[in-house]
Amino acid sequence: MNKMEQFEKLGICEHVLKVVKAKKFEKPSEIQEKTIPLILDGKDVVAGSKTGSGKTLAFGAGIIQNVEPKNGVQGLILTPTRELAEQVASQMQEFSYYKKLEVVPVYGGVSIENQIKKVSHANIVVATPGRLLDHMNRNSIDLSNVSFLVLDEADRMWDMGFKDDVAKIVTKCPKDRQTLLFSATISGELASFSEKYMKAPVEISVEHYVDASKLHQVYYDARDNEKFSLLVHLLKNEQSKNPENQNLVMVFCNTRRNADFVAKNLKLNAVDAHVIHGGMDQSKRMRVLKGFDNGTVNVLVCTDVAARGLDIKGVSHIYNYDMAADAKDYVHRIGRTARAGESGVAINIITSRDYDNFANVQKHNPELRIEREMTPKFERIFVKFDEDKRSFGGRGNGRTSSPSRGRQSSGRSFGRSSGSRDSSPRRSPRSDGRKPSGNFRRSSSSRDSNPRRSSGEGPRRTQGSFRREQRGERNKRTNNPSSNRSSNFKRD
Ligand code: AMP
Repeated sequence: MNKMEQFEKLGICEHVLKVVKAKKFEKPSEIQEKTIPLILDGKDVVAGSKTGSGKTLAFGAGIIQNVEPKNGVQGLILTPTRELAEQVASQMQEFSYYKKLEVVPVYGGVSIENQIKKVSHANIVVATPGRLLDHMNRNSIDLSNVSFLVLDEADRMWDMGFKDDVAKIVTKCPKDRQTLLFSATISGELASFSEKYMKAPVEISVEHYVDASKLHQVYYDARDNEKFSLLVHLLKNEQSKNPENQNLVMVFCNTRRNADFVAKNLKLNAVDAHVIHGGMDQSKRMRVLKGFDNGTVNVLVCTDVAARGLDIKGVSHIYNYDMAADAKDYVHRIGRTARAGESGVAINIITSRDYDNFANVQKHNPELRIEREMTPKFERIFVKFDEDKRSFGGRGNGRTSSPSRGRQSSGRSFGRSSGSRDSSPRRSPRSDGRKPSGNFRRSSSSRDSNPRRSSGEGPRRTQGSFRREQRGERNKRTNNPSSNRSSNFKRD
């Protein structure tokens, strides 16, 4: 069977097949193989899948086959974030190129007036729930012709508090629609949603969330005040160690402030890093992501929300500067690399403030193998904070840390037994006159602001750090950014 026959066998229509061919897809992904025939057969589907699994084509093939130009909005795809809305819309535009469908992304943070005009011609709308409700309240969108409703990354929508908004939207869609739910995990709440709003859904899951065989995960123990220095050392050394496997690097932080801090100080230390988080305006995020996508930016410092759902190819290294507070976020982070058969490395820098999170990640992901690496010798460097324009660097510049000192000082060992996780609107191929080619690349981003999110949430405090603050010892002992915390920490 040749490559295209494998896609044809699934029942995908000519229009979409031509794009698949232009994109040089070798074979259907597992989620496509399992869901496309069911979707084309008119079934409601609940699918366990993640970003990067090819899920957009999985639901897109069915929608594009059945949606006609000029019949109004017939396909509605709900996503948790602006980035994902933009990304999914961009893919849907590409896949529907030969059918000439109008795909319109709808999300907050940008002018609603322009969206209103575009929505009036749309066949497929890819929307975040908040902004869609806005349109519904203004009667600027007609959902009476919707025959396909997709909930993409449904678990994330629930996590972000969109459950009630989604329910309101669903009840305004025609009852005889086909409903497809894609989610990394299917919780009890999602199961009850599917029972209530879906018709005898077929459940599908794909085997592996992370291709563990292609991903090498390690952790280093370090002192709080050596964390940044170790990051710089590792970034510079990993780069020279394995130049052919040094593509794009993502450095994850838990707060916007830490992300800003890390990016700024990396630049001061000759690492060309760029930052992306939810506190930046849309156009800035778009520019950064575009640079990362086309390879002019090599190190992207980011928060979970900003990075969520982005399909960026060629990420070779993931650094967790802050260990993810949520075990699921850890899996999403490492899922940015080791994609499409390529290998990847996830590097965790663990200091005392990460202990609880690290134990939690290991407890909830017992299948992950995170190996301990000896902390190498590295040079201590000064870091700079914005607020008070002071430098913190411990005892002098250029001091060399001894190997594994952090681990000894921590007094805790983290073996596996210890524990127990914005936007570049791509123009439609038609609008810029280009045909689909093999190298469609996306560069999208930005998240819908979550109405229920507390904006003042800071990094989790350990009892120890809290006591230190109480004793007024803050900043005397450490040079890590959380020691300089203030109430304006934003979790992204
Ligand atoms: P998604 O999970 O839908 O965001 O897709 C992730 C990436 O995989 C996108 O860049 C798609 O264009 C690409 N993709 C989708 N299906 C396939 C396939 N069968 N073979 C190779 N790449 C694919």
